[in-house]
Amino acid sequence: MWRGGRTEQLEYTKKVLLVGDGAVGKTSLVRRYVHDLFADRYIATIGTKTTRKEFKLEYEAEDVCVTLDLGIWDILGQKGIEKAHQLYFEGAHAYIVVCDLTRADTLAAVPEWAARVHELCGKVPGVLAANKVDLVEDREARKGEVTALADGLGVKWFWNSAKTGENVEMLFYELGTKICEPIVTQFAQAKAEAAGRAGRPKKKFAGLRR
Ligand code: GDP
Ligand code: MG
Repeated sequence: MWRGGRTEQLEYTKKVLLVGDGAVGKTSLVRRYVHDLFADRYIATIGTKTTRKEFKLEYEAEDVCVTLDLGIWDILGQKGIEKAHQLYFEGAHAYIVVCDLTRADTLAAVPEWAARVHELCGKVPGVLAANKVDLVEDREARKGEVTALADGLGVKWFWNSAKTGENVEMLFYELGTKICEPIVTQFAQAKAEAAGRAGRPKKKFAGLRR
């Protein structure tokens, strides 16, 4: 809808953490999202890898378009929280916690991962990926359990499959929206205040007297 104003273009670079137990599909979700690829082979290299992905989010009501450059941090080959280095978490703006629907213990570990993120990064937004939904026969978790888990963390969750690509775009889109929400609201408020000020007579600047 054209309302006579120019759409404001904003650009942000943000750091996103991938957390969750080993072999739940963290690396596979990023590979699916960024490169649209999947491999059945499990390569547990030690270290971390950052993958960049840029996408746009439109906010019609505020007349704002945000270009979000996400740096997605993936710990390669870690097995538990104790192995995840503090440096990995530092300065993150959001997180994706991943669990594997075929292993109930990976769901049980989710609150611990989220708590670790909040402990080191503050109250940053997150999203829960209930991955490997394609492995229907091997499923060890019900929908109600995942919902309860997500509600407990106050995050949205998705049935995901890095293998088929199910909801992978949605997962990152939701995260991007959550990251940008406060920024866009703040921006719209500042714009409204500036517009209000422009309507009022300007205060005289007294200046410095010598
Ligand atoms: P990470 O340790 O959390 O990074 O897990 P990976 O991404 O390396 O995946 C571990 C294993 O699970 C690999 O063999 C993947 O091919 C497999 N995998 C990952 N995601 C899925 C999925 O959605 N469906 C199926 N069937 N296998 C998956
Ligand atoms: Mg990995």
